[in-house]
Amino acid sequence: MESLRLEIITADRVVVSDEADMVEAKGTLGEFGILPGHIQFLSTVEIGEVRYTKGGATRHLATTGGFAEVFEDKVTLLVDAAEFAEEIDVDRAKRALDRAETALKELSEEDDEYRKHELALQRAVTRISAASKRI
Ligand code: ATP
Repeated sequence: MESLRLEIITADRVVVSDEADMVEAKGTLGEFGILPGHIQFLSTVEIGEVRYTKGGATRHLATTGGFAEVFEDKVTLLVDAAEFAEEIDVDRAKRALDRAETALKELSEEDDEYRKHELALQRAVTRISAASKRI
């Protein structure tokens, strides 16, 4: 059966370099799924969960925002950070969530710092959710 080549790359490391039967991620315009034979595609990706299946098993990751490219059955995600569900330190993510929630309570949406804490909150929530799907 045809498969995809999946690469998830950050500035620090190659997080995934694997074969996949299907890849799902969160684009700016919503969730998208990639199967072998997909047309060439370029999208921004949002902070969210990425899933891929390989031989019937599903792996879950949390990623920050970045870019996704599909070209000739190769799916490349270039993101600031990505972790497999099994790698996520849940206590650390909970602390990040607490910090972000505390900061957001003190700020209004007009404050310059608001967006920064909102993104930190999204990263933490995504990590906690992805970690619950560890295998
Ligand atoms: P923190 O405040 O806990 O550092 P953050 O959202 O600011 O969280 P990032 O800037 O997104 O962290 O990531 C910095 C680095 O730390 C990346 O390499 C990322 O993969 C890693 N990382 C962040 N949070 C966790 C976590 N809860 N478990 C494992 N790795 C994490």
